[in-house]
Amino acid sequence: MSERTLVLVKPDGVERGLVGEVIARIERKGLKLAALELRTADRATAEQHYAEHDGKSFYNDLVDFITGGPLVALVVEGTRAIPAFRQLAGGTDPVEKATPGTIRGDFGIEVQYNLVHGSDSAESAEREIKIWFPNL
Ligand code: GDP
Ligand code: MG
Repeated sequence: MSERTLVLVKPDGVERGLVGEVIARIERKGLKLAALELRTADRATAEQHYAEHDGKSFYNDLVDFITGGPLVALVVEGTRAIPAFRQLAGGTDPVEKATPGTIRGDFGIEVQYNLVHGSDSAESAEREIKIWFPNL
């Protein structure tokens, strides 16, 4: 049973030239790319995407960061794609939670600048894919 997940290479990942690295890991895992776009997110898109965090201490910084430069949005497809990409990404905090061998564990230090986003559930994936790729 194939499923789809929404992945972002956040502006820090694009700035650091890690787009190819992230895509290579997705492909080596056995997942497929169903959509891919380089774009700079507007504030409304970022606020929708991170609506669950509205009101938290880091929310405004997070929206500033995500809209601060070009990012790569992808739809990734395959068996268990949602948990499989979360495994590749590693935990939210690149030092305290993500382990070496994961994208965040290998390349990240600060919690905000953790390089990638991946949907955390089937409901989130459906909601997020509609935000970034309404025509898919
Ligand atoms: P994720 O699902 O692993 O990406 O983590 P969350 O959904 O909890 O948080 C969304 C994003 O907000 C994270 O990926 C980080 O970029 C950022 N973030 C989360 N917690 C913090 C925090 O405590 N401080 C800051 N500055 N950013 C955070
Ligand atoms: Mg999340």
